[in-house]
Amino acid sequence: MSQDFALARERMVKNQLIPRGIRDERVLEAMGKIHRHLFIEEALAGEAYNDHPVPIGEKQTISQPYIVALMTEALELKGDENTLEIGTGSGYQTAILAELSSRVHTIERITSLMVNARKLLDRLGYTNILFKAFDGTLGWKEYAPFDAIMVTAGAPSLPGPLMDQLADNGRMIVPVGDRYSQELIKVTRKGDSMEQDNLGGCRFVNLIGVHGWSD
Ligand code: SAM
Repeated sequence: MSQDFALARERMVKNQLIPRGIRDERVLEAMGKIHRHLFIEEALAGEAYNDHPVPIGEKQTISQPYIVALMTEALELKGDENTLEIGTGSGYQTAILAELSSRVHTIERITSLMVNARKLLDRLGYTNILFKAFDGTLGWKEYAPFDAIMVTAGAPSLPGPLMDQLADNGRMIVPVGDRYSQELIKVTRKGDSMEQDNLGGCRFVNLIGVHGWSD
């Protein structure tokens, strides 16, 4: 079985990520290494490496592998970044960030998801992740500024506190749009100005919070 998963992981990288233009070797390596099937309930583990999101309970999903790769690559991580993630979910994306940056701060509003993700990531031996069950649209001021911020739920607009907590030359990736479809926006801080790039359309669950959607 573990051999099947190893093969599925290899195929995911070869057939879903490289042909669509993911080039960052560190991202490809991390996604080829991390056991994505462990982040999904056993009954659905066979779908872990398929080219689509998978339910993780609480009406939430683990994102499609390509979207995880695209968003991670856009953060341009070199290994020494102070990183913030909003929407821990299963913890899979958190593991990728923990492989590729030096410290990860991850916030999840649904406590049960946060607790499960923390248990698994502890068991897998990650020691560079701090967890918080909270409204991530407010950011995590005590540990700011962040070199990289990833928001893994769809926002109605760029959340102000996250913009404020982005370091100079820092990058933030946020899906912005309506409740049903969004554009992936990359924000780069250059001093007092914020550059914005549109990385294309996507579909995420809602970012719920003070600077997001109402529940
Ligand atoms: N990256 C996750 C993974 O690898 O499994 C998937 C994240 S899922 C698409 C989005 C997550 O964002 C959900 O778990 C949801 O509960 C969470 N979320 C939504 N609004 C939030 C907020 N204001 N603060 C923190 N988490 C939030």
